[in-house]
Amino acid sequence: MADQLIKATAADGGIRAVATITNRVSEEARQRHNLSYVATAALGRAMSAGLLLASSMKTEASRVNIRIKGNGPLGGLLVDAGVDGTVRGYVNNPRVELPPNGIGKLDVGGAIGKQGYLYVVRDVGYGYPYSSTVELVSGEVGEDIANYLVNSEQTPSALLVGVFVGAEGVTASGGLLLQVMPKAAQDESLVALLESRVSKLRGFTNLLRDGYTIPTIFQELLGDLGLNILPEVQLVRFDCSCSLERMLGALKMLGEAELQDMIEKDNGAEATCHFCNQVYQASGEELAQLIADLKTADSLG
Ligand code: ZN
Repeated sequence: MADQLIKATAADGGIRAVATITNRVSEEARQRHNLSYVATAALGRAMSAGLLLASSMKTEASRVNIRIKGNGPLGGLLVDAGVDGTVRGYVNNPRVELPPNGIGKLDVGGAIGKQGYLYVVRDVGYGYPYSSTVELVSGEVGEDIANYLVNSEQTPSALLVGVFVGAEGVTASGGLLLQVMPKAAQDESLVALLESRVSKLRGFTNLLRDGYTIPTIFQELLGDLGLNILPEVQLVRFDCSCSLERMLGALKMLGEAELQDMIEKDNGAEATCHFCNQVYQASGEELAQLIADLKTADSLG
């Protein structure tokens, strides 16, 4: 099944549901960054969460950044997801591996750490981005993001994210977000009902591995609550906006002396994009051109 994101509503618009399948997104991140199993799970969960959070934004250029900085050996991660279905991300220590946790699962909470912070930035593409920070709850990503939504965005939310990765790579990855909208949020029985139903699900990736589609998962959760699945199926993909041009732009900011030094020492420069691990090479001539551009700008300025 192609990586995708589908939305639904229920309870006369009182419930908003969104789910995403990110198998290829997580597999591409694993390959690009040479991620360990637990790092694949941590980043895959966070990328699914980023897509789910971005999906509620209205304007075309909207993006969500999720940064998690915990006290575990993974050393933190960063995800950048757009309302357009693109997502990218990285972890600081991609090769960290840990033994399975007490319930036999990849120990994402141990890798991220149970103490630290979750930073979320929502950027609609103009004006000041909205940013907020909460303390980590468990480092398991799903609980941490749900806690953020409840406490920072005041939206009762249940979130499930999961990644199944083995020797053959990622075989299931995705997530589900259920939210009780403001007009129904006073209805505590509705909130409790959703929480109990989500907790009874056998995990999102287990359902995917059993052949469930997003609509059948929605049906199982919300079928008796006036479920309305929106017809649009949005494709999602790992995508990075980096380019040689952008890399040269960043080098130019280093200034003439630094660029001259690079020409003399290495006759060029190499830079790696954090988000996608793409390596860019700038030749000595390209660096010399940057210096010439800086001089022109100076004489004009
Ligand atoms: Zn990149």
